Amino acid sequence: MSEKSSGDERGRLEVEALCKDYETGHSPLTVLDGLDLRLEAGDALAVTGPSGCGKSTLLHILGTLEPPTSGAVRIDGVDPFALPEAELASFRGREVGFVFQDHHLLPQFNVLQNVTLPTLAVGGNETDDRARELLAAVGLEERLTHRPAQLSGGERQRVAIARALINRPSLLLCDEPTGNLDPKTAEVVADLLFDLQARERRTMVVVTHSEELAERFENRLRLGVVAGVAS
Ligand code: ADP
Ligand code: MG
Repeated sequence: MSEKSSGDERGRLEVEALCKDYETGHSPLTVLDGLDLRLEAGDALAVTGPSGCGKSTLLHILGTLEPPTSGAVRIDGVDPFALPEAELASFRGREVGFVFQDHHLLPQFNVLQNVTLPTLAVGGNETDDRARELLAAVGLEERLTHRPAQLSGGERQRVAIARALINRPSLLLCDEPTGNLDPKTAEVVADLLFDLQARERRTMVVVTHSEELAERFENRLRLGVVAGVAS
């Protein structure tokens, strides 16, 4: 969508004629019907649209958690859904960072441990130093040994952002990352998200209900409701 990046960086995303049907009792439910999208490395895209229009479905497909019914997804030229299942899992662990509306931090681990955990899954060589650096970038260098329950909602989302970036993913995918936060905290978290995305030069897709947040993005995609879906 923009021409600011050169082609040799990671995070180029191509989506062509993407369709997603869910099998339901009688007739399939068409949620995405022929979506095209192209992002260059370092681009940031906001995805908006009414509840039930398929925003989370799109994010799950981009994050390789869910295959499309038809159409193509390529991340830096790779079709992840053509990979064998075991390779797909490690591809996802390396190339995709997720931030959800709920922080999804593990309650029994402290902040530093939560941020470093994803490195174990991919046998990566990112270290505590990288985790500390990211946690400092989100202003939590004084909270390394806190458990999630000992943090505020905004702080938990900041940890989730650091965790999503630890493996230097090609794509940073965020589903309503500020949806559970009060407006002032939401703004602080959104500022940090943009700062880190720019600093780490990640390609970012953010689903949001907030028009205010969406307006901060250079690229915006508004999903409509496919006939028969949502009401
Ligand atoms: P959004 O995130 O925009 O609110 P979703 O992508 O979660 O929307 O869902 C889009 C539509 O697909 C909704 O109507 C939802 O009920 C339906 N849906 C989502 N996941 C499934 C599933 N696993 N099986 C069947 N229908 C689903
Ligand atoms: Mg959703």
